[in-house]
Amino acid sequence: MENEKFTILVVEDQKINRDILSNLLNPEYDVIEAENGSDAVEKLEHCPEITAILLDLVMPVMDGYQFLEYFKDSDFSALPLIAVTGDKDDETERRVLELGAWDFISKPYQPATLLTRLKNVIIRSQYYLISRMKYVYEHDPLTGLYNRSTFFSEAGKLMTNHPEIKFAMVRVDIDHFQTYNSFWGEEEGDKLLRSIANQLRLVSERYPPCIYGRINADAFCICMPDLKDEIGMIAHNAFDELAVYNKKYRLVPSFGVYEVEEPWDKPQKMYELAKLASTECKGSFIDYLAYYRPEISRRLLENQWVINEMQHALDSNQFEVYLQPKYDINRGYPSGSEALIRWNHPTRGILSPAMFIPVFEQNGFICKVDCFVWETVCRLLHDWIARGIDPLPVSVNVSRVNMYNPHIVRIIQNLVEKYSIPPKLLELEVTESAYMTDPEIMASVVSELQSRGFVILMDDFGSGYSSLNTLKDVSVDVLKIDMKFLSDTSDRNRSRKILESTVNLALELETPVIMEGVETEEQVNFLKKIGCNYVQGFFYARPMPVPKFEKLVFA
Ligand code: C2E
Ligand code: MG
Ligand code: MG
Repeated sequence: MENEKFTILVVEDQKINRDILSNLLNPEYDVIEAENGSDAVEKLEHCPEITAILLDLVMPVMDGYQFLEYFKDSDFSALPLIAVTGDKDDETERRVLELGAWDFISKPYQPATLLTRLKNVIIRSQYYLISRMKYVYEHDPLTGLYNRSTFFSEAGKLMTNHPEIKFAMVRVDIDHFQTYNSFWGEEEGDKLLRSIANQLRLVSERYPPCIYGRINADAFCICMPDLKDEIGMIAHNAFDELAVYNKKYRLVPSFGVYEVEEPWDKPQKMYELAKLASTECKGSFIDYLAYYRPEISRRLLENQWVINEMQHALDSNQFEVYLQPKYDINRGYPSGSEALIRWNHPTRGILSPAMFIPVFEQNGFICKVDCFVWETVCRLLHDWIARGIDPLPVSVNVSRVNMYNPHIVRIIQNLVEKYSIPPKLLELEVTESAYMTDPEIMASVVSELQSRGFVILMDDFGSGYSSLNTLKDVSVDVLKIDMKFLSDTSDRNRSRKILESTVNLALELETPVIMEGVETEEQVNFLKKIGCNYVQGFFYARPMPVPKFEKLVFA
């Protein structure tokens, strides 16, 4: 910067005065001349190299005051400007400074004084410019918080400077922020982000030493002492505050926390782990805070493995259908069965649905897999009929993803026609949580299927948040009660009471009830007592390969 030659705009109506000034400024500076205010405006607009302005006040066309009026609100207002005038009075000086001049010099001036004052304002302006650039470079323009790279480097410094403190990387974002943005407009979105930034400021004041910043879009991060209770409270407060922030829109935060084990690690990496943790609470209505655990990374790797292998697995018949018998609780006879998928992997053996079904539901592959199971079951029913066996109905699971597939009714109808089996033999289990997304669509799909003779079971009843509502809106043929009401050991009496009332309610609605997850005789007796109709569970039989099922049930 030292060798660079600055350019000075000299605004002065008298040619002779301009010449004098130019001679004085040369050779140290380059000079651009303007005859009056409006000429100066034009020069400013066309010459970005101008670094400072010397302004005469008394000029024709547009005088110095008028020019200053324009100047103070213009894009050039950050340029240092020295007013030069013959009027020596205090009043003029005050007015000129008020209008944004950096300095004031009266004629006749000492050439050396003018040069020194000019140099001073230029140094000041360069200093200002550099600190401004540094600020812009390090901060997020919307919130004024540190931006991503500054946050990471400052957080790194903080942790190295405080080896005595255990830190946590706390990341927060808003679920479906993009939707909020498009729903309420970007201005509202920006407002929300600024308010989050303010909350972060308050938090950082309470729990020093802290470094916080905006990472991107709606993702913020704070590097703070690892105080479990306090972090829980911060998340809880944020959750409460967001709930009332916009009464017409449910805003939910997701907090992901990584507890720093090795402070010399890269802060970016710590942030990524906090982000992974926050994916644990995404889309859930109650969990807004999750801590990073190594299992999360392991599970993500596992999920990726599932994604890589799934198509090949389907093509090479690695998926198998197991059957688990259901029993009439009073007679003790099998009344049907449920088809449950298993992945029989050549090297890893039998894999359970809990590992792959959620992944398939996320990427849509579940539609293909469900169809595979339905077709396998239809073929099996056809085979039983052909072999003269009196077939018991088999229920199949219909993923929530499939319930919103516009072709679902046609697909299922085609299958029973293809294998010429009565629809009532292919029972359909729809998980209760599927009803929550759009009860209207669900109700119409369910009644469409019922009108074609299919039997609909509401699976996992009681596991959702509005079970009674779904019961009100959708009329199913069988209620299948979630097994958590049996296994709940934390408050057994309470669970049992709810179970009893649910069974009563179902009987009141003349809807048969099947209890899943029955494991003990004690449970069976209780279920008999409260009037439950059907049972399914390890106490009776585990899910098993088809040949074994046939031996057990049809022998
Ligand atoms: P679900 O439909 O509620 O199936 C019942 C689950 O409970 C089965 O787990 C079954 O093995 C298990 N179970 C049965 N009796 C007992 C018991 O006495 N105690 C305990 N603890 N568990 C018992 P599974 O086979 O691991 O399947 C888990 C879930 O995966 C199923 O829950 C269902 O939601 C899903 N799923 C399984 N197969 C399919 C499929 O073909 N398509 C779809 N969309 N989902 C499937
Ligand atoms: Mg089921
Ligand atoms: Mg179930």
